Amino acid sequence: MNAPNKSGWKPTAPAGSEGKFGGPPTTTGNKALMLEEKLIFEIGTPDTTGVDLPEVDDSAPNKLGGMRRDAEIGLPGLSEPETVRHYTRLSRQNYGIDLGFFPLGSCTMKHNPRLNEKVARMPGFADVHPLQPVDTVQGALGVINELAHWLITLTGMHGVAMSPKAGAHGELCGILCIRAALEARGDARKVVLVPESAHGTNPATAAFAGYAVEDIPANSDGRVDLEALKARLGPDVAAVMITNPNTCGLFEPDLREISDAVHAAGGFVYCDGANFNAIVGRVRPGDLGVDAMHINLHKTFSTPHGGGGPGSGPVVLSEALSPFGPLPFTARTDDGVIHLVEEETASEFGHTKAFGRMTAFHGQMGMYTRALTYMLSHGADGLKQVSEDAVLNANYILRSMEDVLHAPYAHSGPCMHEALFGDKGFAEGLSTIDLAKGLIDEGYHPMTMYFPLVVHGAMLVEPTETESKATIDQFITAFRSVAERAKAGDELLKTAPHYAPRSRLDETLAARKPVLAYVDPE
Ligand SMILES: *Cc1c(COP(=O)(O)O)cnc(C)c1O
Repeated sequence: MNAPNKSGWKPTAPAGSEGKFGGPPTTTGNKALMLEEKLIFEIGTPDTTGVDLPEVDDSAPNKLGGMRRDAEIGLPGLSEPETVRHYTRLSRQNYGIDLGFFPLGSCTMKHNPRLNEKVARMPGFADVHPLQPVDTVQGALGVINELAHWLITLTGMHGVAMSPKAGAHGELCGILCIRAALEARGDARKVVLVPESAHGTNPATAAFAGYAVEDIPANSDGRVDLEALKARLGPDVAAVMITNPNTCGLFEPDLREISDAVHAAGGFVYCDGANFNAIVGRVRPGDLGVDAMHINLHKTFSTPHGGGGPGSGPVVLSEALSPFGPLPFTARTDDGVIHLVEEETASEFGHTKAFGRMTAFHGQMGMYTRALTYMLSHGADGLKQVSEDAVLNANYILRSMEDVLHAPYAHSGPCMHEALFGDKGFAEGLSTIDLAKGLIDEGYHPMTMYFPLVVHGAMLVEPTETESKATIDQFITAFRSVAERAKAGDELLKTAPHYAPRSRLDETLAARKPVLAYVDPE
């Protein structure tokens, strides 16, 4: 494990960095104070334990019958200091937003203010149980209710379903509202139209809800082809799922016209609002004719995400769809009491057409408190500035890179919160993945790659409003140098990263055939 030849470490330094990092392989495989780490199963032995457990009384009657374990449990044992060091070493191999710049386009990796964390950890929010009587959790329900109010206000919509637990879950909730509204009027429409540039979750959601998905092409400006969309509308189209700003980082100025055309043809407009951080405080989707839109609290309003969660994807709904929104939801009555409206009480609140529910309980309390804290600490003027700064930072990157990297839509005007590049002009044999791996050597988490699909070798860069000009300037210097190496055909890029704990991994194999259980080689 610790043999230097297995560590992926190579003494060859990329051009320009000689003497800085280079050096002979080490005996241990450790690189200065970055220590190699074996699996816990390889360092622990079943004989070691960090706790003192009483002997098991074997004379007690066996109540487990055939379920009783005969063999050793096979868990690794470590002393407490060994355990602490193992996990601390692993954590040092992780890259996170608190460590450096994270330019992942579409993912919106921004700083999570410590104030949010402090509020989310208050016992009245962190320690409540979802089955507690509602009169003992009025404060927590009040937070949900107030956040719901601000989401409706910021989007100019009619209602909101708070419970969906991620963006994709919110999409499903919105599409199920649309399906319920169509069923209520006896309309069996079966097609959902999705632009080519859409996030993969959009067609997946529509298909999961039982719809046939059809593509709408993009025009040469990277926007939805309005005429192609209008030509396809008809009595079989249930909805159009559209992202605004779209995943090319461009605002769709025709959305109002699209909505009017879809409504005239009897369909609904679903808007993927994951990119709401680019327009929050500036544009209200309700004014653009949107019927349903999920908001990724974990993108627009900070709150930590990545690595699979936790997220939160409330869905704002138009007047036409609100009656079909799921249970439960919060409602404040004139006496100031906040109710959690469930099946038994739905009719008292006039909500009799709910399509069902999305979750067992009410949603992600920790994300609600963080998002509301973010909103209240920024205020209305601050939220408007969030979107302005996010857009300014992305345009700064776009204009600082367009002379070295192909920027396919730079001609169509300013971008929104993310800048899109392609691999046109790279030397033969080098592609986007090589540039991304080169960025790792320079100390940067790579940008989003090969998405959206409409651009060859796409690189989607999203700085967010969090980053300072100094941070962005440093990134641009690194990004430009790696881009120039990709164009010049620098062979060293093909084997980058050279300084990461591991070099190139077979990511496809790792995703398709993950080895999730330790197999003792003996
Ligand atoms: C992130 C994202 C989603 C999905 O959100 P999750 O919370 O990851 O499920 C959908 N659409 C777009 C455009 C996104 O950026």
